[in-house]
Amino acid sequence: MATYQKILVAVDLSSESEVVLQRAQLISGPNAEIHLVYVQEPMDNVYVGIVPQSAAFSGLGDLEAQLGEELKQKLLALGENFNVSADHLHILNGSPAHEIHRFAKENDVQLIVIGTHGQKGLQLLLGSTANSVLHGAGCDVLSVRIGAAR
Ligand code: AMP
Repeated sequence: MATYQKILVAVDLSSESEVVLQRAQLISGPNAEIHLVYVQEPMDNVYVGIVPQSAAFSGLGDLEAQLGEELKQKLLALGENFNVSADHLHILNGSPAHEIHRFAKENDVQLIVIGTHGQKGLQLLLGSTANSVLHGAGCDVLSVRIGAAR
């Protein structure tokens, strides 16, 4: 069986990202392309339905741009540490599962690698990023179990 040639690793840029990326590199063949994807969620996503006219939203554009720059630096550092070339690092904007699915489809990704905390109870009911990515993915998904410590 051929190994996966194009792999998307979803990273939330926490220290857990290294565990997920390490696993992806372990299972990938020598010529595999590994793409790191971080999705920046719009800050007003949570509150716009509740306080649509809030003045607090007016400054969010600048704040998001500044955050985006810092996130980019973190992604670059992660890529450098794990020898992932800069043109395989992607910051997308929107909802994580949606953007991960879209990127995977548009780029013919064969495997998505994502971290999971093995949710229980209410968390399981509400769903996690890993659950949302798994449902609706058009390719294989590997969920890497991450220990209880965050
Ligand atoms: P969570 O269920 O949100 O704790 O996240 C579990 C996994 O989903 C992480 O280990 C990442 O692989 C992925 N993930 C979470 N948030 C993002 C994000 N904003 N961008 C890309 N991947 C993410």
